[in-house]
Amino acid sequence: MATNFKPALIVVDLQEDFCPPNGSLAVANGRDIIPTINTLLSLPFALKIATKDWHPADHISFASNHAGKKPFTDFTTIINPTNAAETYETRLWPVHCIQNTAGAELLPELDISKIDKVVEKGTVKEVEMYSAFYDPCTAIDSAKEGFKTVVVAEGTRGVDQPVTTWDKVKEELEGKGVDVVSMEGEEVAKVRNA
Ligand SMILES: [Zn+2]
Repeated sequence: MATNFKPALIVVDLQEDFCPPNGSLAVANGRDIIPTINTLLSLPFALKIATKDWHPADHISFASNHAGKKPFTDFTTIINPTNAAETYETRLWPVHCIQNTAGAELLPELDISKIDKVVEKGTVKEVEMYSAFYDPCTAIDSAKEGFKTVVVAEGTRGVDQPVTTWDKVKEELEGKGVDVVSMEGEEVAKVRNA
């Protein structure tokens, strides 16, 4: 084994608004992954980070901030504030994860004492920010930055289902150099034994 093996864990957006029973953008069975995440948090990762979607009330990703537009089905164009030539289309959502509201809280079942650092994202009104690095997707950006990156399948639920199926997401991740692994796989075992 390489002596410089230094695994980090990023727990992405395990917040009330993304989970039943009260989330405004609840992912079906979102709370089911908590035991998996707590197991991962108990392993000897060198660094454990949790991200929080953390929006101002006038955030660009909320359909209610665009006259006549509906959440889930409508899109808006986002312009890079530092480079107006760079634009991309992003889906619009119901209002969610407003800074300092109950919906933006991390799930209380999470073993928060094990988390070293919380990273807030989506804090700028004009920009959508799905990723802990930049956008649009944390795992893909991590691979792009040169980190060997894996997504633990049991610890993942998709906000876009059934529009985007898990198989499609997996294909995209793997196409960008991110491995999708299981809790039983050798990657997690390697951390267990680190
Ligand atoms: Zn958001």
